[in-house]
Amino acid sequence: MSGTEPAEPALGAPRAALGPPVLLAEVAVDRPGLDLLTYSVPDDLAGVLAVGDCVAAPLGQQDLRGFVVSLERRPLPTTFTVRDLAGRQFGVRVPPALLGLARWGATYYRCTLGQFLGGVVPSAVKTARMTETVELVAPVQGFAGALSKRQRELLEKLPVEPIELAAAIILAGTTAATLRKLAGLGALTITSEDHELRRDIVETELSAGDERHPLTDEQAAAVAAVAAGFDSPAPQPTLLHGITGSGKTLVYCELAERCIASGRQVLVLLPEIGLTPQLAARFRRRIPRTVVWHSAFAAGERAEGWRRVAAGEADLVLGTRSALFAPLARPGLIIVDEEHDPSYKSELTPRYHARDLALVYAKQLAIPVVLGSATPSLESIANARAKRYQVVRLTRRPAGGALPVPELVDMRRECQEQKQLAVLSRRLVEELATVRARGEQAIVLLNRRGWSPILSCPACGFTVECVACAIPLTFHRGPGLLRCHYCGHHQAPPTRCPSCDHDGMDAKGVGTEQLASLINAALPDLRMIRLDADTVGTKHGHARLLAAFAAGAADCLVGTQMVAKGLDFPRVTLVGVVGADRSLAIPEFRAAERTWQLIAQVSGRAGRADKPGRVIVQAYDVQAAALQAALGFASVKDFLDNELDLRRAYGYPPGSGLARILWSGPAPAKVQLAAIDGGRRLAAVADDCRVLEPCPAGMPLLKGMHRWHVLIKGPSRGAVQRLFDRLAESSNATGPSGLPESNAVRVTIDIDPLHTS
Ligand code: ADP
Ligand code: ZN
Repeated sequence: MSGTEPAEPALGAPRAALGPPVLLAEVAVDRPGLDLLTYSVPDDLAGVLAVGDCVAAPLGQQDLRGFVVSLERRPLPTTFTVRDLAGRQFGVRVPPALLGLARWGATYYRCTLGQFLGGVVPSAVKTARMTETVELVAPVQGFAGALSKRQRELLEKLPVEPIELAAAIILAGTTAATLRKLAGLGALTITSEDHELRRDIVETELSAGDERHPLTDEQAAAVAAVAAGFDSPAPQPTLLHGITGSGKTLVYCELAERCIASGRQVLVLLPEIGLTPQLAARFRRRIPRTVVWHSAFAAGERAEGWRRVAAGEADLVLGTRSALFAPLARPGLIIVDEEHDPSYKSELTPRYHARDLALVYAKQLAIPVVLGSATPSLESIANARAKRYQVVRLTRRPAGGALPVPELVDMRRECQEQKQLAVLSRRLVEELATVRARGEQAIVLLNRRGWSPILSCPACGFTVECVACAIPLTFHRGPGLLRCHYCGHHQAPPTRCPSCDHDGMDAKGVGTEQLASLINAALPDLRMIRLDADTVGTKHGHARLLAAFAAGAADCLVGTQMVAKGLDFPRVTLVGVVGADRSLAIPEFRAAERTWQLIAQVSGRAGRADKPGRVIVQAYDVQAAALQAALGFASVKDFLDNELDLRRAYGYPPGSGLARILWSGPAPAKVQLAAIDGGRRLAAVADDCRVLEPCPAGMPLLKGMHRWHVLIKGPSRGAVQRLFDRLAESSNATGPSGLPESNAVRVTIDIDPLHTS
């Protein structure tokens, strides 16, 4: 390495106005109000720095972490002072394909490229200590280059053995910049080293089928249809619509092997961390170089995952939504399992939808993408009907096991007949007893945790709410606490009404904690495992509880929607759902779709292997279309047709584009004013979109922040994007939102929101 500048430049001297071209890097940083910053590249980095590298970008007294998005030789700008980059994070380079996806995502989700990259690259990767080692090139006496006396003296203070940069600075009594200068002159080298972060990623082997079965005709057809895309210049996305237990995983494995054989890598996305160990075990059996990736991993594990993938040690990356941003060099196939699942949508900036970005990524790379589900999202149904996707169906269960026999229990009648407000129907108790007697297993779903969702006064009706969220606090009997499920606030339950001083409060409604206790009262020798956010606890708790259930440690798994997702327990012959129509009462446009998906999914858990299954669904509104369709009492197609008609009529996706802008802050008046002002600005550029009146959000107070929002409905997603383009052009606001932001009021843009609370 040799310096291009004179042997002894005066450090810190002002540079000539329009000097020779120098290497400049544009760096995307994740800082409010900032986007791309320009830096000069110090000589020791010049040969190694590439677009996509994570760098330390000095700003004021700090070093920000950012990503190089362009490198160019040009004269230094004259309008501002350009500083040198302060270092490079070894081994952290966003591959070009991923950078392309990030650019698209930042534009679509209306954030800066820095915010986007900042949000999707694990922070542990960016902030892991930059270990740099300094090593003398030759004994100083022998170094032929021109050095000043001071520089020689400085070099003599360094040991012959390599030492860490930080130590070298202290030993030589100098600065990093001076040492880098010397590196530029060729007197020493500065290298970054991979930290030994290797750590065994915990994996619980759950019961997993041998994935070497011969393919059924349906599976073979599915594989062929997707594999055709490997050779196509513009493969169509595939919707793999397969009933639960139809062997979608085998199709994924088969395709993954073909992709890997051609020298490319595979990305498999899953909605839930609880599913990862089981699926990982199944994939790893066939594809040993499978790397598991999810956001519940500790910082070190995530950094380690990044490095392994970046180093080309992975043929297949399997993980939750953030796995989409694993730094694979040449992805050749993307699989999105359970594509309808809401957890693919991020609720933090960038508020991306991993399935939607997977489609964009696949299109950019011209590779096949498979969306798998037994209950596809209405978005995917609409795309399939419009022939934007090819559809392949798996209609049978290869491992045998007929579809379960469904029963709907009318809880209105049940309560009349039991002459009390019953939580458990007699049918469900009866069947649970049978399961116990036969040594089989059951799953019971109630999508609400805690003992009771409400604690209220029987005299005046006062309900205890969270002070920070204006939402009823849930009573948890185990710890004897009232808890807010949104902000984590907890307090002791009052014994007297805080409003009228009546002596005694009522716990109303039932959550999983109470349900488990009621089942226990009815069937004392039924062994239970409760699976919800309260029992999962630690990051591997979910997997551990599932493993215990799979190993037969309990007869019954009771829990929230966590029990509903893609698990394969061969001994489960009964599924019970308590309060199946409760989610229909939530005022959200996706309520019916979600209910259908949840009930159909959990029903699919019954009778998967050789034993027939039974599903008992308790509801008050047994005629609800979503329930009727989920249980096969009514046509799913009619249900979907009707839902799509309703969405169209009310201007909701998938037919229309939807965006939500949320203003939040501690001062209600400021939030309201900002929302009204924002609403006006949006209305001024509405054109073919409808900008609804600003109003308090579904949750008007959350974590101490007051919240107002505006909904935008457009004839298409593109129309909504064009509205934001016009807004950005028309306004002088600096942020990517095109709306004024301040410390007092935060603006959040949610493109394609899943809910409006
Ligand atoms: P899905 O993900 O579609 O719900 P799975 O992939 O979990 O279904 O498969 C369900 C069960 O069927 C698994 O136990 C799997 O091993 C088994 N299976 C899948 N394909 C075949 C096949 N071709 N022959 C025999 N068994 C199969
Ligand atoms: Zn709260």
